[in-house]
Amino acid sequence: MIVVMKQGSTKDQVEKIVKLVREMGLKDHVIVGEERTVVAVIGNDRFKDRSALETLDGVDKVVPILAPYKMASAEVKQGRSEIPLGNGATIGGKKVGVIAGPCSVESKQQIIEIAHMMKEAGAVGLRGGAFKPRTNPYSFQGMGEEGLKHLAAARDATGLAIVTEVMSIDQVEICCEYANVLQIGARNMQNYNLLSRVGETRTTVLLKRGLCATMEEFLLAAEYVMARGNHNIILCERGIRTFEDYVRNTLPLAIVPALQRATHLPVVVDPSHGTGKSYLVEPMCRASVAVGCDGLIVETHADPEHALTDGAQSITPAAFQQMMTNIKRVAQAVDRDV
Ligand code: PEP
Ligand code: MN
Repeated sequence: MIVVMKQGSTKDQVEKIVKLVREMGLKDHVIVGEERTVVAVIGNDRFKDRSALETLDGVDKVVPILAPYKMASAEVKQGRSEIPLGNGATIGGKKVGVIAGPCSVESKQQIIEIAHMMKEAGAVGLRGGAFKPRTNPYSFQGMGEEGLKHLAAARDATGLAIVTEVMSIDQVEICCEYANVLQIGARNMQNYNLLSRVGETRTTVLLKRGLCATMEEFLLAAEYVMARGNHNIILCERGIRTFEDYVRNTLPLAIVPALQRATHLPVVVDPSHGTGKSYLVEPMCRASVAVGCDGLIVETHADPEHALTDGAQSITPAAFQQMMTNIKRVAQAVDRDV
Protein backbone atom coordinates (compact mmCIF):
# COMPACT_ATOMS: atom_id res chain seq x y z
CA MET A 1 0.00 0.00 0.00
CA ILE A 2 0.94 3.62 -0.35
CA VAL A 3 0.25 6.12 2.40
CA VAL A 4 -0.34 9.55 0.90
CA MET A 5 0.19 12.37 3.41
CA LYS A 6 -1.78 15.60 3.33
CA GLN A 7 -0.21 18.76 2.02
CA GLY A 8 1.62 20.35 4.92
CA SER A 9 1.88 17.16 6.98
CA THR A 10 4.62 17.37 9.60
CA LYS A 11 7.80 15.38 10.00
CA ASP A 12 6.45 13.93 13.27
CA GLN A 13 3.31 12.70 11.52
CA VAL A 14 5.40 10.96 8.85
CA GLU A 15 7.61 9.43 11.54
CA LYS A 16 4.56 8.03 13.30
CA ILE A 17 3.49 6.31 10.07
CA VAL A 18 6.97 4.86 9.61
CA LYS A 19 6.94 3.55 13.19
CA LEU A 20 3.56 1.87 12.73
CA VAL A 21 4.55 0.37 9.39
CA ARG A 22 7.63 -1.18 11.02
CA GLU A 23 5.52 -2.48 13.90
CA MET A 24 3.40 -4.27 11.29
CA GLY A 25 6.54 -6.11 10.19
CA LEU A 26 6.74 -4.18 6.94
CA LYS A 27 9.35 -1.93 5.37
CA ASP A 28 8.90 1.72 4.50
CA HIS A 29 10.23 3.96 1.81
CA VAL A 30 9.54 7.64 2.39
CA ILE A 31 9.40 9.79 -0.71
CA VAL A 32 9.36 13.53 -0.07
CA GLY A 33 7.80 15.29 -3.03
CA GLU A 34 7.49 18.96 -3.79
CA GLU A 35 3.89 19.11 -2.64
CA ARG A 36 3.39 15.99 -0.60
CA THR A 37 5.15 13.16 1.12
CA VAL A 38 4.19 9.55 0.44
CA VAL A 39 5.20 6.46 2.36
CA ALA A 40 5.49 3.37 0.17
CA VAL A 41 4.89 0.28 2.29
CA ILE A 42 6.95 -2.67 1.15
CA GLY A 43 6.12 -6.29 1.95
CA ASN A 44 2.97 -8.41 2.03
CA ASP A 45 0.43 -6.08 3.60
CA ARG A 46 -2.60 -7.91 2.21
CA PHE A 47 -3.95 -8.86 5.61
CA LYS A 48 -2.84 -5.79 7.53
CA ASP A 49 -5.35 -3.32 8.85
CA ARG A 50 -5.23 -0.27 6.58
CA SER A 51 -7.70 1.66 8.67
CA ALA A 52 -5.11 1.94 11.47
CA LEU A 53 -3.07 4.19 9.17
CA GLU A 54 -5.96 5.88 7.40
CA THR A 55 -7.24 7.66 10.49
CA LEU A 56 -3.90 9.07 11.66
CA ASP A 57 -3.26 12.81 11.67
CA GLY A 58 -1.62 14.07 8.51
CA VAL A 59 -2.79 11.14 6.36
CA ASP A 60 -4.83 11.96 3.26
CA LYS A 61 -5.46 8.43 1.99
CA VAL A 62 -4.08 4.93 1.89
CA VAL A 63 -3.98 3.31 -1.54
CA PRO A 64 -3.89 -0.50 -1.54
CA ILE A 65 -1.75 -2.20 -4.16
CA LEU A 66 -2.51 -5.85 -3.40
CA ALA A 67 -6.04 -7.25 -3.49
CA PRO A 68 -7.38 -8.18 -0.01
CA TYR A 69 -8.04 -11.74 -1.23
CA LYS A 70 -5.12 -13.93 -2.07
CA MET A 71 -5.90 -17.41 -3.36
CA ALA A 72 -8.74 -16.11 -5.50
CA SER A 73 -6.53 -13.40 -6.93
CA ALA A 74 -5.10 -13.37 -10.44
CA GLU A 75 -1.88 -12.11 -8.83
CA VAL A 76 -1.12 -15.52 -7.35
CA LYS A 77 -1.97 -17.75 -10.30
CA GLN A 78 -0.96 -17.47 -13.92
CA GLY A 79 -3.64 -18.55 -16.35
CA ARG A 80 -7.27 -19.46 -15.84
CA SER A 81 -8.54 -22.22 -13.58
CA GLU A 82 -10.52 -25.00 -15.18
CA ILE A 83 -12.93 -26.38 -12.61
CA PRO A 84 -14.27 -29.95 -12.80
CA LEU A 85 -18.00 -30.59 -12.72
CA GLY A 86 -17.46 -34.16 -11.61
CA ASN A 87 -18.76 -35.82 -14.77
CA GLY A 88 -15.72 -35.25 -16.97
CA ALA A 89 -16.85 -31.77 -18.07
CA THR A 90 -15.18 -28.60 -16.83
CA ILE A 91 -15.95 -24.89 -16.65
CA GLY A 92 -13.17 -22.44 -17.42
CA GLY A 93 -11.67 -23.93 -20.57
CA LYS A 94 -12.25 -22.96 -24.18
CA LYS A 95 -15.74 -24.42 -24.06
CA VAL A 96 -18.56 -22.34 -22.63
CA GLY A 97 -20.27 -24.83 -20.30
CA VAL A 98 -24.04 -24.60 -20.03
CA ILE A 99 -25.92 -25.74 -16.93
CA ALA A 100 -29.69 -25.89 -17.33
CA GLY A 101 -32.80 -27.21 -15.66
CA PRO A 102 -35.72 -26.15 -13.54
CA CYS A 103 -35.56 -23.75 -10.65
CA SER A 104 -36.89 -26.53 -8.39
CA VAL A 105 -37.13 -30.27 -8.56
CA GLU A 106 -40.89 -30.90 -8.67
CA SER A 107 -41.09 -34.65 -9.32
CA LYS A 108 -38.91 -37.53 -10.48
CA GLN A 109 -40.57 -37.62 -13.87
CA GLN A 110 -40.18 -33.85 -14.37
CA ILE A 111 -36.48 -33.80 -13.62
CA ILE A 112 -35.62 -36.91 -15.64
CA GLU A 113 -37.59 -35.72 -18.66
CA ILE A 114 -36.02 -32.28 -18.68
CA ALA A 115 -32.55 -33.75 -18.03
CA HIS A 116 -32.80 -35.75 -21.25
CA MET A 117 -33.87 -32.67 -23.19
CA MET A 118 -31.06 -30.52 -21.73
CA LYS A 119 -28.50 -33.20 -22.49
CA GLU A 120 -29.80 -33.51 -26.03
CA ALA A 121 -29.46 -29.74 -26.52
CA GLY A 122 -25.84 -29.75 -25.32
CA ALA A 123 -25.91 -28.88 -21.61
CA VAL A 124 -23.09 -30.24 -19.42
CA GLY A 125 -24.87 -29.81 -16.09
CA LEU A 126 -28.39 -30.13 -14.70
CA ARG A 127 -29.61 -27.59 -12.20
CA GLY A 128 -32.52 -28.10 -9.82
CA GLY A 129 -33.17 -26.89 -6.30
CA ALA A 130 -34.16 -29.38 -3.63
CA PHE A 131 -33.76 -26.85 -0.82
CA LYS A 132 -35.21 -23.51 -1.90
CA PRO A 133 -34.54 -20.10 -0.32
CA ARG A 134 -38.01 -18.57 -0.65
CA THR A 135 -38.82 -15.01 0.27
CA ASN A 136 -42.24 -16.06 1.53
CA PRO A 137 -42.27 -18.76 4.22
CA TYR A 138 -45.58 -20.12 2.90
CA SER A 139 -44.23 -20.68 -0.63
CA PHE A 140 -43.03 -24.09 -1.85
CA GLN A 141 -39.79 -24.80 0.02
CA GLY A 142 -38.45 -27.61 -2.20
CA MET A 143 -38.60 -31.40 -2.03
CA GLY A 144 -35.59 -31.77 0.26
CA GLU A 145 -33.77 -35.12 0.29
CA GLU A 146 -36.34 -36.72 -2.01
CA GLY A 147 -35.49 -34.04 -4.58
CA LEU A 148 -31.78 -34.86 -4.25
CA LYS A 149 -32.55 -38.52 -4.98
CA HIS A 150 -34.46 -37.54 -8.12
CA LEU A 151 -31.50 -35.41 -9.24
CA ALA A 152 -29.14 -38.35 -8.73
CA ALA A 153 -31.50 -40.52 -10.80
CA ALA A 154 -31.43 -37.89 -13.56
CA ARG A 155 -27.62 -37.95 -13.49
CA ASP A 156 -27.63 -41.75 -13.74
CA ALA A 157 -29.93 -41.48 -16.75
CA THR A 158 -28.03 -38.74 -18.61
CA GLY A 159 -24.50 -38.29 -17.24
CA LEU A 160 -25.16 -34.60 -16.57
CA ALA A 161 -23.43 -33.07 -13.53
CA ILE A 162 -25.89 -32.16 -10.78
CA VAL A 163 -25.89 -28.58 -9.49
CA THR A 164 -28.07 -27.96 -6.44
CA GLU A 165 -28.29 -25.36 -3.71
CA VAL A 166 -27.15 -25.97 -0.17
CA MET A 167 -28.72 -23.50 2.24
CA SER A 168 -27.28 -24.48 5.58
CA ILE A 169 -24.38 -26.27 7.24
CA ASP A 170 -26.52 -29.26 8.19
CA GLN A 171 -27.43 -29.83 4.50
CA VAL A 172 -23.81 -29.92 3.28
CA GLU A 173 -23.17 -33.61 3.92
CA ILE A 174 -26.33 -34.85 2.24
CA CYS A 175 -25.92 -32.50 -0.73
CA CYS A 176 -22.34 -33.76 -1.23
CA GLU A 177 -23.69 -37.30 -1.25
CA TYR A 178 -26.02 -36.64 -4.20
CA ALA A 179 -24.69 -33.61 -6.06
CA ASN A 180 -21.60 -32.81 -8.15
CA VAL A 181 -21.72 -29.07 -7.54
CA LEU A 182 -22.92 -27.22 -4.43
CA GLN A 183 -24.65 -23.96 -5.24
CA ILE A 184 -24.31 -21.22 -2.66
CA GLY A 185 -27.24 -18.93 -3.34
CA ALA A 186 -27.16 -15.15 -3.53
CA ARG A 187 -28.76 -14.82 -0.11
CA ASN A 188 -26.04 -16.93 1.45
CA MET A 189 -23.02 -15.36 -0.22
CA GLN A 190 -22.10 -13.72 3.06
CA ASN A 191 -22.99 -16.68 5.28
CA TYR A 192 -19.39 -17.12 6.33
CA ASN A 193 -19.97 -20.24 8.42
CA LEU A 194 -21.57 -21.95 5.44
CA LEU A 195 -18.75 -20.82 3.13
CA SER A 196 -16.18 -22.25 5.53
CA ARG A 197 -18.11 -25.52 5.78
CA VAL A 198 -18.27 -26.04 2.00
CA GLY A 199 -14.58 -25.09 2.00
CA GLU A 200 -13.92 -28.21 4.04
CA THR A 201 -15.36 -30.40 1.29
CA ARG A 202 -13.70 -30.96 -2.06
CA THR A 203 -16.97 -30.73 -3.96
CA THR A 204 -17.10 -28.00 -6.60
CA VAL A 205 -18.91 -24.85 -5.44
CA LEU A 206 -20.98 -22.56 -7.65
CA LEU A 207 -20.89 -19.30 -5.72
CA LYS A 208 -23.57 -16.78 -6.63
CA ARG A 209 -23.01 -13.09 -6.12
CA GLY A 210 -25.09 -11.56 -3.36
CA LEU A 211 -27.91 -9.21 -4.32
CA CYS A 212 -26.09 -6.23 -2.82
CA ALA A 213 -22.49 -7.46 -2.78
CA THR A 214 -19.63 -5.59 -4.40
CA MET A 215 -17.18 -7.44 -6.62
CA GLU A 216 -14.61 -7.33 -3.83
CA GLU A 217 -17.04 -8.82 -1.32
CA PHE A 218 -17.88 -11.51 -3.89
CA LEU A 219 -14.21 -12.43 -4.26
CA LEU A 220 -13.70 -12.38 -0.50
CA ALA A 221 -16.56 -14.88 -0.20
CA ALA A 222 -14.71 -17.13 -2.66
CA GLU A 223 -11.58 -16.63 -0.56
CA TYR A 224 -13.46 -17.99 2.48
CA VAL A 225 -14.06 -21.26 0.64
CA MET A 226 -10.49 -21.40 -0.68
CA ALA A 227 -9.00 -20.61 2.72
CA ARG A 228 -10.37 -23.96 3.93
CA GLY A 229 -8.71 -25.81 1.08
CA ASN A 230 -11.47 -26.11 -1.52
CA HIS A 231 -10.20 -24.41 -4.66
CA ASN A 232 -12.92 -25.73 -6.95
CA ILE A 233 -15.02 -22.61 -7.26
CA ILE A 234 -17.10 -21.26 -10.10
CA LEU A 235 -18.28 -17.66 -9.70
CA CYS A 236 -21.80 -16.82 -10.84
CA GLU A 237 -23.18 -13.36 -11.61
CA ARG A 238 -26.95 -13.51 -11.14
CA GLY A 239 -27.92 -9.86 -11.14
CA ILE A 240 -28.05 -7.28 -8.40
CA ARG A 241 -30.65 -5.06 -6.75
CA THR A 242 -30.93 -1.61 -8.27
CA PHE A 243 -33.63 1.06 -8.56
CA GLU A 244 -34.60 -0.37 -11.95
CA ASP A 245 -37.87 -2.31 -11.95
CA TYR A 246 -38.55 -3.47 -15.51
CA VAL A 247 -36.40 -6.48 -14.61
CA ARG A 248 -36.26 -8.62 -11.46
CA ASN A 249 -32.55 -7.84 -11.08
CA THR A 250 -30.05 -5.79 -13.07
CA LEU A 251 -27.50 -7.97 -14.84
CA PRO A 252 -24.15 -6.15 -14.91
CA LEU A 253 -22.17 -7.93 -17.60
CA ALA A 254 -19.11 -5.73 -17.23
CA ILE A 255 -18.32 -7.83 -14.18
CA VAL A 256 -17.39 -10.76 -16.43
CA PRO A 257 -14.20 -9.22 -17.88
CA ALA A 258 -13.62 -7.34 -14.61
CA LEU A 259 -13.65 -10.60 -12.65
CA GLN A 260 -11.50 -12.32 -15.24
CA ARG A 261 -8.93 -9.62 -14.69
CA ALA A 262 -9.10 -9.86 -10.91
CA THR A 263 -9.29 -13.65 -10.50
CA HIS A 264 -8.30 -16.91 -12.18
CA LEU A 265 -11.64 -18.50 -11.23
CA PRO A 266 -14.17 -19.11 -14.02
CA VAL A 267 -17.20 -16.84 -14.35
CA VAL A 268 -20.68 -18.07 -15.18
CA VAL A 269 -23.72 -15.88 -15.87
CA ASP A 270 -27.31 -16.61 -14.76
CA PRO A 271 -29.56 -14.58 -17.09
CA SER A 272 -32.68 -16.17 -15.58
CA HIS A 273 -32.39 -14.60 -12.14
CA GLY A 274 -30.44 -11.79 -13.79
CA THR A 275 -33.54 -10.58 -15.63
CA GLY A 276 -36.54 -12.46 -14.23
CA LYS A 277 -38.19 -12.46 -17.67
CA SER A 278 -38.07 -15.40 -20.06
CA TYR A 279 -37.98 -13.18 -23.18
CA LEU A 280 -34.76 -11.56 -21.94
CA VAL A 281 -32.96 -14.82 -21.25
CA GLU A 282 -31.73 -15.66 -24.74
CA PRO A 283 -30.50 -12.14 -25.62
CA MET A 284 -28.60 -11.99 -22.33
CA CYS A 285 -27.14 -15.47 -22.93
CA ARG A 286 -25.79 -14.19 -26.25
CA ALA A 287 -24.46 -11.04 -24.62
CA SER A 288 -22.81 -13.05 -21.84
CA VAL A 289 -21.03 -15.29 -24.33
CA ALA A 290 -19.98 -12.25 -26.35
CA VAL A 291 -18.46 -10.64 -23.27
CA GLY A 292 -16.45 -13.78 -22.57
CA CYS A 293 -18.28 -15.73 -19.86
CA ASP A 294 -16.99 -19.23 -19.10
CA GLY A 295 -20.45 -20.68 -18.68
CA LEU A 296 -24.17 -20.08 -18.33
CA ILE A 297 -26.76 -21.34 -15.87
CA VAL A 298 -30.28 -21.17 -17.24
CA GLU A 299 -33.68 -22.08 -15.80
CA THR A 300 -35.79 -24.26 -18.07
CA HIS A 301 -39.21 -25.83 -17.61
CA ALA A 302 -41.42 -27.95 -19.86
CA ASP A 303 -44.47 -26.00 -18.70
CA PRO A 304 -43.29 -22.63 -17.33
CA GLU A 305 -46.82 -21.42 -16.62
CA HIS A 306 -47.27 -24.21 -14.10
CA ALA A 307 -43.76 -24.20 -12.63
CA LEU A 308 -43.77 -24.26 -8.83
CA THR A 309 -41.02 -21.62 -8.73
CA ASP A 310 -39.64 -18.99 -11.11
CA GLY A 311 -41.87 -19.85 -14.08
CA ALA A 312 -41.76 -16.28 -15.45
CA GLN A 313 -38.03 -16.53 -16.06
CA SER A 314 -37.94 -20.15 -17.21
CA ILE A 315 -37.58 -20.93 -20.90
CA THR A 316 -39.04 -23.99 -22.61
CA PRO A 317 -36.83 -26.84 -23.84
CA ALA A 318 -37.52 -25.70 -27.43
CA ALA A 319 -36.39 -22.15 -26.62
CA PHE A 320 -33.35 -23.58 -24.86
CA GLN A 321 -32.40 -25.60 -27.91
CA GLN A 322 -32.74 -22.50 -30.10
CA MET A 323 -30.63 -20.50 -27.65
CA MET A 324 -27.89 -23.15 -27.74
CA THR A 325 -27.81 -22.95 -31.54
CA ASN A 326 -27.62 -19.17 -31.45
CA ILE A 327 -24.89 -18.87 -28.81
CA LYS A 328 -22.68 -21.22 -30.83
CA ARG A 329 -22.31 -18.54 -33.48
CA VAL A 330 -21.51 -15.91 -30.88
CA ALA A 331 -19.01 -18.26 -29.23
CA GLN A 332 -17.20 -18.78 -32.53
CA ALA A 333 -16.92 -15.03 -32.97
CA VAL A 334 -15.04 -14.77 -29.66
CA ASP A 335 -12.91 -17.91 -30.20
CA ARG A 336 -14.89 -20.17 -27.90
CA ASP A 337 -16.91 -23.34 -28.33
CA VAL A 338 -20.17 -24.38 -26.72
C1 PEP B 1 -31.85 -20.32 -7.85
O1 PEP B 1 -30.83 -20.62 -8.48
O2 PEP B 1 -32.97 -20.80 -8.07
C2 PEP B 1 -31.74 -19.24 -6.84
C3 PEP B 1 -32.55 -19.17 -5.80
O3 PEP B 1 -30.74 -18.37 -7.14
P1 PEP B 1 -30.25 -17.04 -6.40
O4 PEP B 1 -29.61 -17.50 -5.12
O5 PEP B 1 -29.30 -16.45 -7.38
O6 PEP B 1 -31.47 -16.18 -6.16
MN1 MN C 1 -34.83 -19.87 -9.37
